[in-house]
Amino acid sequence: MKITRITVWQLDLPLNAPYWLSGGRLKFERLDSTFVRIDTDEGVCGWGEGCPWGHTYLPAHGPGIRAGIETLAPALIGQDPRSLDHINRVMDIQLPGHLYVKSAIDIACWDILGQVSGLPLWQLLGGSDATPVAVNSSISTGTPDEMIILIEQAAAKGYTVHSAKVGGTDIAADIARIEAISAALPAGHRVTFDVNRAWQPATAIEVLNSVGARDWVEQPCETLDQCAHVAARVANPILLDECMHSLQDHLEAWKRNACEGVKVKPNRLGGLTKSRQIRDFGVSVGWQMHIEDVGGSALADTVAIHLAASTPDANRLASWLCHYHLATDPVPGQGARNVSGFAAPPSSPGLGVTPDPAALGAPTAIYEG
Ligand code: MG
Repeated sequence: MKITRITVWQLDLPLNAPYWLSGGRLKFERLDSTFVRIDTDEGVCGWGEGCPWGHTYLPAHGPGIRAGIETLAPALIGQDPRSLDHINRVMDIQLPGHLYVKSAIDIACWDILGQVSGLPLWQLLGGSDATPVAVNSSISTGTPDEMIILIEQAAAKGYTVHSAKVGGTDIAADIARIEAISAALPAGHRVTFDVNRAWQPATAIEVLNSVGARDWVEQPCETLDQCAHVAARVANPILLDECMHSLQDHLEAWKRNACEGVKVKPNRLGGLTKSRQIRDFGVSVGWQMHIEDVGGSALADTVAIHLAASTPDANRLASWLCHYHLATDPVPGQGARNVSGFAAPPSSPGLGVTPDPAALGAPTAIYEG
């Protein structure tokens, strides 16, 4: 089997409402998504999506995905898409780094592998069934009262796990947010306070040693060094997200006791092949993981839910679904959706999601051998 054509679409995905992170430092109103279809000489085609959360959240740039695919395409045409590790080596030789560029290509190849083997991705990734995984809400930064109202609204939709965005320059405001939200949490619910790297180490240590809450705290500071420094001086379990890119980053975090868990996000890590490696490492060292994507439609969400469903319960926290923040649905009704606080992956062969041609419109680029 050989790759004969790579087709690329750009789609603007407007958010339902403006979204604030990091104590109001970062604002998001639309996402720039890239959809990719890989065609083969045997008539099978696979789909992938790459979608950064804007361009201020990570060193990832929506138009950069399309530019990177233009560079990679000539080396990928003619390769066997079922040889996932080989496909990744080809991409890494042609374009070192730039992991977010490669994710949609890798995912489309996994979709093809699943279809030709007759197996859903959750099974190819090692799972025993299409386990419904807990979905977590995402609570935009605001006053304590505003954030508690958002948590109550999420609870009414079935969410029992919440990611509350905190982290600003006002230490007292962050202490107030954390204490109020932790105290107001409905019985049996869990919350992670996601700082999105906004604190300096001294701020993180001061805030976390002031609050009584012992909930998870995510990405308190910018770098792995800073987060490791904080982790050694606070009682809250630490989850790492934005500073984790390569498998080597994860090895380093483990060696330094910098965290008790990580976020596994295919677009940040370079696709499912590399995300699976990191998931397996996390299982082997006893980490707990949120498995979700950086952003995108229900297609990107479904990729992550396949990986989450194939991860042991003890190592899996919850998964966020980006598509609930979007005003459009380019894969209408398909894939992993929130049903009373849980989402299950499809069990049809491959990814199990195909974009609506009308939603995609005309391709941005077509690469052929
Ligand atoms: Mg995060």
